[in-house]
Amino acid sequence: MKKINVQMVDLMGQYDKIKSQIDKNIINTIRSGKLINGPIVREFSGNLSKFLEVKHVIPCANGTDALQIAFMALGLEPGDEVICPAWTYVATAEAAAILGLIPVMCDVNPNTFNVTSEYIEPLISEKTKAIVPVHLYGQSCDMEPIMNLAKKYNLKVVEDNAQAIGCKYTYSDCEAKLTGTIGDIGTTSFYPSKNLGAYGDGGAIFTNDDNLAEKIYLAANHGQNKRYHHKIIGCNSRLDSIQAEILNVKLKYLNEYNNNRNIMANNYNLAFEAIKEIQTPKIIKNSTHVYHQYTLKILNNKRDELKQYLLENDIPSMIYYPIPLYKQEAFSKFVEQGFELTNTEELSKSVISLPIHTELENSNQDYITEKVLNFFK
Ligand SMILES: *Cc1c(COP(=O)(O)O)cnc(C)c1O
Repeated sequence: MKKINVQMVDLMGQYDKIKSQIDKNIINTIRSGKLINGPIVREFSGNLSKFLEVKHVIPCANGTDALQIAFMALGLEPGDEVICPAWTYVATAEAAAILGLIPVMCDVNPNTFNVTSEYIEPLISEKTKAIVPVHLYGQSCDMEPIMNLAKKYNLKVVEDNAQAIGCKYTYSDCEAKLTGTIGDIGTTSFYPSKNLGAYGDGGAIFTNDDNLAEKIYLAANHGQNKRYHHKIIGCNSRLDSIQAEILNVKLKYLNEYNNNRNIMANNYNLAFEAIKEIQTPKIIKNSTHVYHQYTLKILNNKRDELKQYLLENDIPSMIYYPIPLYKQEAFSKFVEQGFELTNTEELSKSVISLPIHTELENSNQDYITEKVLNFFK
């Protein structure tokens, strides 16, 4: 049988195409000696702020720190509640919990995988201070109703944009904004496999608010805006210069990378269209999609069998996420015993993500679709 070599993410294939620029820039950075907070870090944050059309981009060490720093900058206090999806990567709720905040777990729409204002509103209490929408797999949450809700209840909005950089959301009046720049603060991750990935850890925080930008900057830099003058208790969360060089190169290709992901997603969609056991990704009309993940719902309870079958055919696949947050031991103290959310439960049993990345070759994608179709024959 034909053997293929496909990975969920192909960082080496991508590197080969930009190697000369990357290598030259890394060496120049090392030779400059400015390894932390070098001029390239400022240059990259300037370029990213242009790309996102947001006033301030404050780089930091990773996407989890970015969330924590956002909560710190908003002045949230232990015991404050933040509403976040139960269906997300652990970091979203963890960054809140480590500050003593209470993550209130919200169910998600079973078709878009994202929180909506309908699921959020009933969870709002006197203690609620913020909403943390996550633009999961690369598609925006329906932000307009969420922003209206935040206004009505006087809540802050922190967008976890780790999976959706470059995704565009359009308001009903046709105003369009990139995700991460809609709420009070947006955060992202440059983890290598993210759509804009470094060759190590990295993250960033965005805001249009000058006052918040100052607080974010302080929180990420030991509480200082002048060396050895510490105004608040902060943390140490920096993007190093070498990662900034890499990101600066890759940012130029981000739209192209996201376009490639869309082409591949369309190929999959067409191939699976007629299979009634498969639900292909559903996109709301106000959002584009950057397909950080291409995630199917398998409707006949055979998700695990499909995963196994693909594995036997050398095709990797992933379950994002196998266990809802409220079933994690670490988060058990935030929920009553036996707590379950209907849609989140269903998703944990039905979703599967297929390889989608900027270097996936057509022949390999054809092989993957052929095998998936074969499974449902
Ligand atoms: C990756 C990710 C994070 C965390 O980013 P790190 O850089 O790994 O800390 C946070 N939220 C979501 C939704 C993510 O996918």
